Amino acid sequence: MAVETTDKAFVERLERDYKEIEFRWGCSRFSYQLRNGKKVVFLGPAQPNFALLALHELGHALCGHKDYSTHVQRLKIESEAWERAKTVFSKYQKMADAPEWDEDFVQAEMDTYRDWLHTKSRCKKCGLTRYQTENGEYHCPRCENFCLAY
Ligand SMILES: [Zn+2]
Ligand SMILES: [Zn+2]
Repeated sequence: MAVETTDKAFVERLERDYKEIEFRWGCSRFSYQLRNGKKVVFLGPAQPNFALLALHELGHALCGHKDYSTHVQRLKIESEAWERAKTVFSKYQKMADAPEWDEDFVQAEMDTYRDWLHTKSRCKKCGLTRYQTENGEYHCPRCENFCLAY
């Protein structure tokens, strides 16, 4: 399966317009990384909404996202990247062959992060929602005994 012509042309246009960012085609999945100070967008395999996924990773790049220590921050970062993707997209949507913005897809992607966060934060012993400290560690208020003061 090849990347759809419209999507391919659109991402190539982004490549030309955002020269400071490197786009790598044919990667195993969509992602964004800062590599030796260079912003790199990794383009995953052909799939529906290829252009939107590329825009999302570009969104991370333009937001200057680096690292996140807590998963709650991760959710914030993902929604920021989609917001930025939408802003970039609005500049192109009048193009005759622009791909379509699929808001349902974007919301479904956000739900995936939310579900993931929810599963991740649940205590495997008792099912209670755990809390996360600054360093990224999870703690269960029920199972962990912090009663040092007694
Ligand atoms: Zn993302
Ligand atoms: Zn627990």
